[in-house]
Amino acid sequence: MTDSKYHLETLATRFDRAGGGVRNAGDVVPPIHLSTTHEMRSPGESDHGYKYNRFGNPTRDILEERLTKICDAERAVTCASGTAAIAATCLSVVEAGDHIVAFDGIYGGTRLLFEDLLVDSLGATVEYVDATDMDTVDAAITDETALVWMESPTNPLLRLCDLAAVGEIATAVDATYVVDNTFATPYFQRPLERGADIVVHSTTKYLNGHSDSMGGAILTDDHSLADAVEHTQSYDLGGTLAPFDSYLTLRGLRTFPLRMDRHEANAGELARYLDGHPSVAHVNYPGLPHHPQHDLAREQMDGFGGIVSFELDATAAETRAVLEVLDVFTLAVSLGGTESLVDHPATMSASYLADAEREAAGISDSLIRIAVGVEHVDDLLADLDQALENL
Ligand code: PLP
Repeated sequence: MTDSKYHLETLATRFDRAGGGVRNAGDVVPPIHLSTTHEMRSPGESDHGYKYNRFGNPTRDILEERLTKICDAERAVTCASGTAAIAATCLSVVEAGDHIVAFDGIYGGTRLLFEDLLVDSLGATVEYVDATDMDTVDAAITDETALVWMESPTNPLLRLCDLAAVGEIATAVDATYVVDNTFATPYFQRPLERGADIVVHSTTKYLNGHSDSMGGAILTDDHSLADAVEHTQSYDLGGTLAPFDSYLTLRGLRTFPLRMDRHEANAGELARYLDGHPSVAHVNYPGLPHHPQHDLAREQMDGFGGIVSFELDATAAETRAVLEVLDVFTLAVSLGGTESLVDHPATMSASYLADAEREAAGISDSLIRIAVGVEHVDDLLADLDQALENL
């Protein structure tokens, strides 16, 4: 772990020029280095340490350094998307025939990747468990388990798992424990402090925060794991983060703590409003006292995040009409940008699931997910109000 004297808010903004070399031009913002290759002084030797963009790039290095500080990790490896980060992590850790335990609420794309890469290609077995129940997790993890994969809160139902308790079980059997922290972000939750060996992020979401860059990051305190994912990423998969996207993510990070405060404040207000609305059957938000894991959220998170989902007391056609009439909320998949987005999981973000799987996962035709942005909360409330008034 880093031992920084500064708070996260300062680390998110600060361009540390102390490294010298490419950083000593007095820039107050990090420069974008586009060169794909770098001159050597003598065959195989260079003073600046750079050789070829896929193995190292000055702008990307500044981003990785900033991410280690913000996430309080020893090492960061960035990738071209969150999915690339998940693939690099899995392919570094999992061997043919391995046993894997995963939360049954993980991101659908991760589940597809597990099935295609780990199960179909490597012959691994993945056991999906209801990780809200620690007895189920305990029963699934055995001495044979190589990888434990958690996400908390989950998408779109905002279910939580006890990160530290899962960490204890995973550590006891020497399994690599990975947490996808994309939803909570390092501002609200720090899984490395709760036993995770690796944390992955889709930086496409809150860390970049402006819906204009795809990226992923892998954070760890374990140097041998970091070397392994770096190797897989650079030599085997090749999905490195481009210099311009590295720059955009650095730029987004400057306001990351400010944005998270606003996302959360707005989400809390909207969750309470929806909770009292006669046409809303149920609201999922860890900050609401009736959330089944509200106490756990208070214990392991420093805030409840910016995503809310809710079940309308309405037919599929009525739900569709609500989604079509929203104005401030944009109907689009994804989350984490400054603008508020609304998603209909059944036909959008979870449409890859067969109907029976979707129903079993609790994703009904009347479920709506909102990724609450940083707009004025009164405009968001009024928009929801006008959309729900015809129900
Ligand atoms: N993890 C979570 C929790 C996500 O929601 C997503 C994307 O929605 C990903 C990973 C994948 O990230 P990307 O779209 O950057 O590949």
